[in-house]
Amino acid sequence: MDHPLKGPLLARFYSTEPSLQKEDSDFKDGKGFKGHDMLAPFTAGWQTTDGCYAYDANGKRYLDALAGLWCTALGGNEPRLVEAATAQLNKLPFYHSFWNRTTKPSLDLAKDLLETFTARKMAKVFFTNSGSEANDTQVKLVWYYNNALGRPNKKKFIARAKSYHGSTLISASLSGLPALHQKFDLPAPFVLHTDCPHYWRYHLEGETEEEYSTRLANNLENLIVKEGPETIAAFIAEPVMGAGGVILPPATYFEKIQAVVKKYNILFIADEVICAFGRLGTMFGCDKYNIKPDLVSVAKALSSAYMPIAGVMVSPEISEVIYSESNKLGTFSHGFTYSGHPVSCAVAIEALKLYKCVSILPLRKSISHPCRERNIVEKVESISPRFQDGLKSFSDSPIVGERHWLDSWYRVTDNKSPNDPFPSEWGIGAYFGSQCEKQGLLIRVAGDSIMMSPPLIITPPEVDELINKYGRALKATEERVKELK
Ligand code: PLP
Repeated sequence: MDHPLKGPLLARFYSTEPSLQKEDSDFKDGKGFKGHDMLAPFTAGWQTTDGCYAYDANGKRYLDALAGLWCTALGGNEPRLVEAATAQLNKLPFYHSFWNRTTKPSLDLAKDLLETFTARKMAKVFFTNSGSEANDTQVKLVWYYNNALGRPNKKKFIARAKSYHGSTLISASLSGLPALHQKFDLPAPFVLHTDCPHYWRYHLEGETEEEYSTRLANNLENLIVKEGPETIAAFIAEPVMGAGGVILPPATYFEKIQAVVKKYNILFIADEVICAFGRLGTMFGCDKYNIKPDLVSVAKALSSAYMPIAGVMVSPEISEVIYSESNKLGTFSHGFTYSGHPVSCAVAIEALKLYKCVSILPLRKSISHPCRERNIVEKVESISPRFQDGLKSFSDSPIVGERHWLDSWYRVTDNKSPNDPFPSEWGIGAYFGSQCEKQGLLIRVAGDSIMMSPPLIITPPEVDELINKYGRALKATEERVKELK
């Protein structure tokens, strides 16, 4: 009899199934394996993590090249984060932040975050428990702000095709991935989507990156004018698109997009949920692309995912308007029981210390490598060439179409052409993912895209191990493609 938890149930809801490793026989000839988590046999519940490794119920060790879900930047067993949580639990395990109450850790974290974000001055932080709640909060704050300014029609949001901003009603609406909308009656009507900035896939013949960016900025402007600039409240973008496929902005993209947004008095929201805290070799994605946002969402690596916490940073202009409007009303009625949870805040404060400290020697005591003595941004800069060069060594593979650096992205495409993808029923991406798992390597698969974002504490020998395992999985997938052709 089939296990009751098999079949069309979300592994995220039911995670007690014993290990069901994907075997080659799951990839029936020509039928492939969809790799969707509703259909996939799910793997064993993870038992322990150690640095960059995760162990399943059978004791099998995997190099976690996705850092959990783009979040455990400091790896799986950072004692200082555990100590920070334990100390806070012993001191003040909870207090809420309603009616002018708050906790010291949330105040300290707010100060720390505001000082850390230097792309432009931010005035206040609102804490949430997840990136999705942060982006929902963004929409509410922007609506509140425009209502306070007497602009009741300025309510629409522009996001981008293939973006991911979360899975609550509003954040899924902002997201530009059709799977998040279909059968959920989404997106909500106030959300519009503009072009995905994926140069490799969508540029016209002979079009340079700069020309492509100009075309996208023109398309955005046309959309704004068509809808009426007085109806558009904000534009939201991830500095590098994550879940949509690690899509880097083409040259001059953000410069041109920001100019359009500014021209029509539209707020810019930077969704830094994945990009912040060193992932791109800068503290924030905004630093990398010279983005001057009005509002910023952070989450994930904020606590290295050891405790759920996210936040929205707000510019002084917006904060002042919200402050004076809520003074008039006598209340600001938005918040969550766990907003600014003291244990989450204590862990995030410690994580920020670890990202910023000149010496992170306490990190990963068992491994000796000079990179540990740098701050996290320098650490990323120093390890990234090894990661990139390793991956570049596979660029002559007949099934690799495009690849990018630290957050590495491989589009596995026939003939290396963006216009000639593998038939989806071959399930090549999912096959590749299963081969990685066989090798003891965890990656992310979306369609035929392969994504990695290893913990930022990864060491050179671990990068080499990652590359070797990746190479073996790639070889097996090349063989598979040959068979299917
Ligand atoms: N925004 C971005 C860019 C994300 O990548 C994610 C999650 O992956 C979210 C928002 C949603 O965050 P959460 O899953 O914490 O709700």
